[in-house]
Amino acid sequence: MLDKPQLKNMLDTPVAQRMPREIAPGVFWIGDCLAQRHKGKSYHGYNAAYLVAGIEASILVETGHPKDFPVIERHMNELFARGVAPLKYLFVTHQETPHCGGLGRILKNFPDALLVGDVSDYHLAFPQYEHRMRSMNEGDAIDLGGRSLMAVEPVIRDLRTTWWGFDTKERVLFPGDGFAYSHYHEDGHCGLIAEEAVSLDLPDVSSTFADLALFWTKFADMNVYCDRLDHLIARLDVKVIGPTHGLPITDVKATVPKVQAGLKAAALMPESGTNEKVAVAS
Ligand SMILES: [Zn+2]
Ligand SMILES: [Zn+2]
Repeated sequence: MLDKPQLKNMLDTPVAQRMPREIAPGVFWIGDCLAQRHKGKSYHGYNAAYLVAGIEASILVETGHPKDFPVIERHMNELFARGVAPLKYLFVTHQETPHCGGLGRILKNFPDALLVGDVSDYHLAFPQYEHRMRSMNEGDAIDLGGRSLMAVEPVIRDLRTTWWGFDTKERVLFPGDGFAYSHYHEDGHCGLIAEEAVSLDLPDVSSTFADLALFWTKFADMNVYCDRLDHLIARLDVKVIGPTHGLPITDVKATVPKVQAGLKAAALMPESGTNEKVAVAS
C-alpha cells in the first residue's frame, strides 16, 4: 500500500490524470469508468485492462469495454513511448464483452501480438486472426523476460471458459469477475485503489455487483468459494489484486475479507433483477 504522502498526491491529482496508474512495478492499470444508474444513484464500474511489462515483451490483460478502446490504446501508447516493452500478448479472462470487447482492434493495431488464454470461439468472430490464437491451461505461463503471466484457477467465474491471470514477479492476481464492485464518481473514487477510497463501503458495493452481475451466487454456498479464494491467495502468495470491475487491492489481508463479506451477504438476498424497475402501466 502507498504511504501517506503518495496517497495525498493521488487524492489531489485530477481524476483524468490518475490513469494509467502503476499498481506494482511494471504493472499498469489502464482504462476508464462506466457510469450506470442503480437505486437512484450514479454507480461507476470499471471494465479495466492491465498492462504487464517484462524486459522483452508486454502482455495486455483484458481489453476493456468496446467504448474504452480509444482510452486503452492511448494509455498503452503513452506507456510504450515511455520505454515499456512492446505488446506481444493479449490475455483475456473470458469471452464476455466488457473483458474482450476490444480484442479485434488490439489484434489489428498490434500485428505482432498473440491472443492467449482460453481462446474458444474467437476464431468464429475473427477468422483472419485464428493463426495468432494460443490456448492456455492452468499453470501455463507466458515468459515476458524477467517475469511471466500464468493462467491460474478461476475461483469466481462468469463463464466455464474463464482463466484468471497471475504475474509471477510482483505476485499480482488478475481475477476477471472476482472482486467486482462499483465505486462513486461523486466521492472521487475514480482512479483510486481500494484502500485509498476510504468512504467506499466495500461489503455493500460488492454485494450489489454480485446481485446484478453474478446471479449464480444466489444458488451457491459462498462460504466454500471464499475459502477457496483464501486457499488460492495463500498458495500463490498474492500481494496485489487487479480486478476487471473493482478498484485494485494492495492490502490483501485487510481488503479481501470485506469483499468476501459482500459476496456472502448477496448470496442470502433474493435476486433483485438487472435493471432499474419501472412501474408497468396497468
Ligand atoms: Zn465481467
Ligand atoms: Zn469512476
